[in-house]
Amino acid sequence: MSQFWSALVHKLTPYVPGEQPRLPGLVKLNTNENPYPPSPHAVAAIREELGADGARLRLYPDPSAERFKEAVAAHFAGLAITPAQVFVGNGSDEVLAHTFMALLKHEKPILLPDITYSFYPVYCGLYGVQHISIPLGEHFEVRIDDYNRENGGIIIANPNAPTGHLLPLAEIERLVAAHRKSVVVIDEAYIDFAGQVIPTSIALVNRYPNLLVIRTLSKSHSLAGLRAGYAVGNTLLIEALERVKNSFNSYPLDRLAIAGASAAMNDREHLEKTRLAVINSRTTLSTDLERLGFEVLPSAANFIFTRHPHHDAAQLAAQLRQRQVIVRHFTLPRIEQHLRITIGTDDQCQVLVDALREILG
Ligand SMILES: *Cc1c(COP(=O)(O)O)cnc(C)c1O
Repeated sequence: MSQFWSALVHKLTPYVPGEQPRLPGLVKLNTNENPYPPSPHAVAAIREELGADGARLRLYPDPSAERFKEAVAAHFAGLAITPAQVFVGNGSDEVLAHTFMALLKHEKPILLPDITYSFYPVYCGLYGVQHISIPLGEHFEVRIDDYNRENGGIIIANPNAPTGHLLPLAEIERLVAAHRKSVVVIDEAYIDFAGQVIPTSIALVNRYPNLLVIRTLSKSHSLAGLRAGYAVGNTLLIEALERVKNSFNSYPLDRLAIAGASAAMNDREHLEKTRLAVINSRTTLSTDLERLGFEVLPSAANFIFTRHPHHDAAQLAAQLRQRQVIVRHFTLPRIEQHLRITIGTDDQCQVLVDALREILG
């Protein structure tokens, strides 16, 4: 507290990111990073942009990152997406922040699940957006019919975090069609891990001008350290985001990020290989944990959400930590007995399973 703080700052409850400890040898399964390296083409593109002497860094990057927008549109060419339907930002967190400001701040409160990405209520606090939390069902599922009430917008992560629950595309369409007077935001941070076929809501944007789909390269493209995210929607929604972005920071993506993110979007083969590896490891890890007596929620993401009926979650997390394995534990109502565990390589998953077997005795 300080007399120098604005009234708003006094009232803020900031988001607390998962820790990034600088200890070597840790098995880090707490922030849903991808265990595999990014596309070699992305790395090469970053090196090329840097050049021998870094001279290009003298110059500002393209403020609208057209190259990245074109790569996103090309990636979704099968869904007839154009670059004008794409907005890009410094990680999808920034895209989300602008979305709250540009499209969700209205008179009426927005609706969001009670258990979801905990950054959403933080943006509400920052931008003065009223919200109503809609409880998940007893199996932690989003129930579309519970959103049938007046609202100033709706935001849902699909798959949801930290539960991993996936709503089928038909359910998303039902939601978007039932709320044509509000913007419906679908955060698809984890959708590439949903299955062999990716059930993306981007398939609906050309039919629903009220739908905005937000994606990140942090998880499925292994680029959490580069900071690149994007949104796809009707050009009028994109224009609103551009207006906010150009009132905040003209150059949210630096030259290296634009080069790397564009190349990553173009490398479908790498995405396919790594996302299928994660999906396979998820199946193996879920089975292994069930054998140890854990209840594992079905997950469409690169993490699983699990609890042990006879062991306290906070204690398990602490015991894992002593064995150099870190997972995420949330001290929140309804989920304080659950752990969210990121899918690592098969070797990392094995270290986790061995550690748990030892702990459970
Ligand atoms: C990780 C995550 C994000 C943020 O991703 P960045 O692009 O790294 O900012 C957004 N939404 C959800 C649901 C996430 O889990």
